[in-house]
Amino acid sequence: MHSNLFNESFRIQACLLTLLFGALSGCVGIPTGQESAVVTRAQMQMGTLVKITAVARSESVAQAAVTAGFAEIRRLEELLSTWIPTSELSRVNAAAGVSPVHVSLDTWTVVQRAMQAAEMTGGGFNIAIGPAVDAWRVTEGQHIPTETELDALRPLVDLQAVRADLGEQTVYLEKPGMRVDVGGIGKGYAADQAVLAMKKAGALAGVVALSGDIKTFGHLPGGRKFPVGIQHPRKEEEVLVFIDLEDEAISTAGDYERFFERNGVRYHHIIDPKTLQPARGCQSVTVIAKEGVWADGLDTGIFVMGPERGMELVEELPDVEAVIVDHEGLVHVSSGLKDRIRKP
Ligand code: AMP
Ligand code: MG
Repeated sequence: MHSNLFNESFRIQACLLTLLFGALSGCVGIPTGQESAVVTRAQMQMGTLVKITAVARSESVAQAAVTAGFAEIRRLEELLSTWIPTSELSRVNAAAGVSPVHVSLDTWTVVQRAMQAAEMTGGGFNIAIGPAVDAWRVTEGQHIPTETELDALRPLVDLQAVRADLGEQTVYLEKPGMRVDVGGIGKGYAADQAVLAMKKAGALAGVVALSGDIKTFGHLPGGRKFPVGIQHPRKEEEVLVFIDLEDEAISTAGDYERFFERNGVRYHHIIDPKTLQPARGCQSVTVIAKEGVWADGLDTGIFVMGPERGMELVEELPDVEAVIVDHEGLVHVSSGLKDRIRKP
């Protein structure tokens, strides 16, 4: 079955972030004199190419860790994908206005983190955006919804009407027609959980990359950090800057990921919950945080906030850094990152 956390309606162009250690595979000597194995495998999950790398003492442990990472992402996809009618989130959406739905702790946590991301970003991040995302779904003909269409949806994009009850472990959408969409945060959460599964399986270090959502732990053999390149939002083949990651997650939201153009205007997949139009302040937002769930939730929310307010938020948050390319193509780098980026 085709399953996807996201809708595939826009043109998919980007690789967003590039991992730069692809050549490393097999057995490598590390300075302590011990051998370590590096295994990388890729497969389609959550509607995107997922690439997992594990570093372990032996090839078999590295292989098992990669397998455990993929299994964890598959498990979460079955809970969170709104393309799978039996997923927990599909059941939550189907019960909108009817009843609360009991969910797993994973689903509850993703919804709860999404609510926190909404609060942090002044409502820029909003998982109740589902009906508006669907209205803009454009595989079926690059549809530009009218203001009347969007006005009818506005009451449904209402975070106050999303209830996540911890005691009962339920999620309830109070109004019929509401739909939550965790496409803006779910991959970051999945990267975090896949890393936990890999550690449990014995990996010493590794990377989980779900397209533009990457989480790293430990170091490459030889003690090197994991190098990542941020894609230039307007030049497909060009890397904007390189950053080395150490026990960190990185996530990029870009207007070049899924989009179409009409009369010189770019219509893309990140929707401003206030206007229900594609957000206009940025070309791309890359966030580095300790956890993927925050890197992912914040990149989307900050994209909506725009470069000025977005960077103010980043500077306030501990352990969060960002590279923001504004709508004119100007690159803004947070203070904690200035000494860490390398230009190509
Ligand atoms: P990302 O690539 O992480 O920015 O996620 C983009 C996806 O998040 C979109 O494809 C939608 O599914 C969803 N989305 C769009 N706009 C918003 C928003 N304002 N808040 C939360 N999720 C959104
Ligand atoms: Mg995101």
